[in-house]
Amino acid sequence: MDLYEYQARDVFEKHGVPVLGGIVATTPAEAKAAAEKLGGGTVVVKAQVKTGGRGKAGGVKLAHSPEEAEARASEILGMDIKGHTVHRVMIAEGAKIAEEYYFSVLLDRAERRYLAMASVEGGMEIEQLAVERPEALARVPVDPTVGIDAAKAAEIVSQAGFAPEVADEIAAVLQKLWTVYAEEDATLVEVNPLVRTEDGAIIALDGKVTIDENAAFRHPDHAELEDKAAADPLEAKAKALDLNYVKLDGEVGIIGNGAGLVMSTLDVVAYAGEEYGVKPANFLDIGGGANAQIMANGLDVILGDQQVRSVFVNVFGGITACDEVANGIVNALGILGERATKPLVVRLDGNNVDEGRKILAEANHPLVTLVATMDEAAAKAAELAAAK
Ligand code: GDP
Ligand code: MN
Repeated sequence: MDLYEYQARDVFEKHGVPVLGGIVATTPAEAKAAAEKLGGGTVVVKAQVKTGGRGKAGGVKLAHSPEEAEARASEILGMDIKGHTVHRVMIAEGAKIAEEYYFSVLLDRAERRYLAMASVEGGMEIEQLAVERPEALARVPVDPTVGIDAAKAAEIVSQAGFAPEVADEIAAVLQKLWTVYAEEDATLVEVNPLVRTEDGAIIALDGKVTIDENAAFRHPDHAELEDKAAADPLEAKAKALDLNYVKLDGEVGIIGNGAGLVMSTLDVVAYAGEEYGVKPANFLDIGGGANAQIMANGLDVILGDQQVRSVFVNVFGGITACDEVANGIVNALGILGERATKPLVVRLDGNNVDEGRKILAEANHPLVTLVATMDEAAAKAAELAAAK
């Protein structure tokens, strides 16, 4: 989960990273009030969108009075930045910047450790710096069991070539940023720019934090950071039901057990669908031990997708055998009742397949078509989706 800049600012503050005051506003009037609350002096009006390069896109503007903040906010609110509509701005205390630096720490999956990156040339897009002048970006591996302690911070500061006057203070801030990374279970903490102000303070002016959702159980407070409004409503519903669902742009609903099987189901449906001009509508893995209720929940989410015209249920019976799955499908249709509206193509194979097929055949549900192989089932589901 990526945090908005204002959320990252709050998390930084919580862990003692130096930041400036910032208040979120959703209307120009709120922006004006926020600027007044921050003392009525110079503020920065910053678009809150989960994408970089806001500055370049015109989403970061200085304002020298609360009235100006109101005017800038009315320009920025509603703006489109790389496909993200701006619904919120942060009114941030203005800083007199002397120098802009870059710092990040992230999970380096390939190397199975963390990686810290730092540069005395921050502010600009760091991807560009990494390509054009790689020597200007220090890359320092971080041992997960040690983290960024005083010695590691000193190593990063020295490799990046920070001036002696700021070295100690930067090192102290990097250790605080490490605390954010470790204690919040982040996979990315990035500060661009980390600045030195004209009066010598080191401040994190822009923060990007990605939280590892697998650690959610350790952080009940992270639930409120989630941007429920921005999520797709079907994905939000699936998440609430604890389902592994990704909405796609297509007509054939897909439900299967096991991520690998579902991925290959998407492939065969995409292939079969070419002939009919239809595509997979979603990814949904209901996992190994799927009972009737989970099957019903999955079908409910898929049938809630207005675009869906048919559903392909592709199950390989393993520990949960085909007969249990078949009973699950029959019971799920019972649970759904009138909400079950689209044709279902079912392909069952694996453990107890004969019993499973028999159960479905005997139930003889008007919406269910039983098909023997995955390719045939994909073709049938695509054909039904095209026929409406
Ligand atoms: P980004 O473009 O999305 O990364 O947004 P940033 O928050 O990094 O802002 C972009 C640039 O705006 C920074 O690199 C600064 O040069 C400038 N900026 C941001 N905040 C302030 C501020 O308080 N005062 C001044 N003078 N410039 C700022
Ligand atoms: Mn930035």
